[in-house]
Amino acid sequence: MNDLSPIYDSLVIGGGPAGLTTAIALAETGAKTALLARRAPYADNRTTALLGASVDLLERLNVWPRCHDQAAALRTMRLVDDTGRLIRSPEVRFCSDEIGLEQFGYNIDNRSLMVALEARAAEFSNLTRFDDEATTIDPQDASVAIATGKGEHLAARLVVGADGRQSPSRQAAGIEISRRDLHQSALTFNIAHSRSHNNVSTEFHTPQGPCVFVPLPGNRCSVVWVSAAREAERLMSLGDDELSEAAERQSHSILGRVRVEAGRNVFALTIERPEQFASHRVALVGESAHVVPPIGAQGLNMGLRDAADIADIAGNAISLGEDPGSPAVLARYQSARRSDVASRLIAIDVANRSLLSDFLPMQSLRAAGMHLLGSFGPLRRLAMREGLAPTWKRVS
Ligand SMILES: Cc1cc2nc3c(=O)[nH]c(=O)nc-3n(C[C@H](O)[C@H](O)[C@H](O)COP(=O)(O)OP(=O)(O)OC[C@H]3O[C@@H](n4cnc5c(N)ncnc54)[C@H](O)[C@@H]3O)c2cc1C
Repeated sequence: MNDLSPIYDSLVIGGGPAGLTTAIALAETGAKTALLARRAPYADNRTTALLGASVDLLERLNVWPRCHDQAAALRTMRLVDDTGRLIRSPEVRFCSDEIGLEQFGYNIDNRSLMVALEARAAEFSNLTRFDDEATTIDPQDASVAIATGKGEHLAARLVVGADGRQSPSRQAAGIEISRRDLHQSALTFNIAHSRSHNNVSTEFHTPQGPCVFVPLPGNRCSVVWVSAAREAERLMSLGDDELSEAAERQSHSILGRVRVEAGRNVFALTIERPEQFASHRVALVGESAHVVPPIGAQGLNMGLRDAADIADIAGNAISLGEDPGSPAVLARYQSARRSDVASRLIAIDVANRSLLSDFLPMQSLRAAGMHLLGSFGPLRRLAMREGLAPTWKRVS
């Protein structure tokens, strides 16, 4: 950096869905923003079930109109006990019209979402893109100094670390995380099928984890199949015909004949929680801040709430003449995110453990809980509303 180099109000490191959304939301506030992220085609075939508030945010940021054609509405969520155990839970159905909504949200393939985010990010004159990566991140008193792979030297008052699970920004800020390996993996692939999904997402609970069929446009679904790590590797190695058969069997043929599409990925599952969400002029968003297994579609939905909160808080600070990377501003972000993320991490962990447990009293408790959810309307409606976004985050 030389004396003429600008000091950005905020600089986002990492161009996954959380980073791009944060950069757009910050630019939208008028902040002088930089995005340091390699432009590369999205690498896997994952899809995201975006719940209501996430869709509202993407709508507000003028991203959703560019990709909603690629998304399928999620109107009903079915939870089916497929453990084959002595004590089984009753089926629970969550219907969006029960809480006055046309849909809970939409399922979209991440590639389409990323194309829309990239297109929107390119429109801001106050958002400078560096197609590069951060090699050093050095938080100092008045700003953070960043060196890039191509030899650029940048500085910003606030760095937003959206650089994923290994997060160099988190390390630079000295933020520790606790990580627990779940010894489970998720196999992801997409299928075409002969019967309509009717906008119903169905989650089969197996003794190794959930296997969920989530609607995509047309007679297609994305599949996230969680199992023991070795079983996921076995499924991954099957030929297309064998995997199609296995998926049809696992879905109990509710979707008719199943044909797997090209492209599969396996993700090792962990739960990761940070000690702090921000420190030393660095705020964390997305998977640099929290990693959860794909249960209840919470991961990126939390990441988008991180993006909205840091943009609101930093944007307000800048408009009041405050330093967006100051300890006071970072403390506001910390307090905005802590309860939301902590409560979801606990709920997901408990749901996963209760499914895997061979302990009979735990299975009874799980069955009783599901029975209550299925039969007691107010509780079911509360669970639906809390699943979409925490109560204290909703405007109406
Ligand atoms: C099987 C599966 C299914 C899922 N389904 C859902 C779902 O239905 N709903 C939901 O809400 N969530 C879901 N999730 C979670 C969701 O996929 C993640 O939360 C999300 O992809 C994380 O996005 P991110 O932007 O935080 O991280 P990433 O996508 O990992 O992006 C991080 C980026 O930072 C870049 N980077 C790293 N280091 C540097 C550096 N030094 N300089 C510059 N850039 C750097 C990386 O190259 C990468 O592009 C699922 C997850 C899995 C595994």
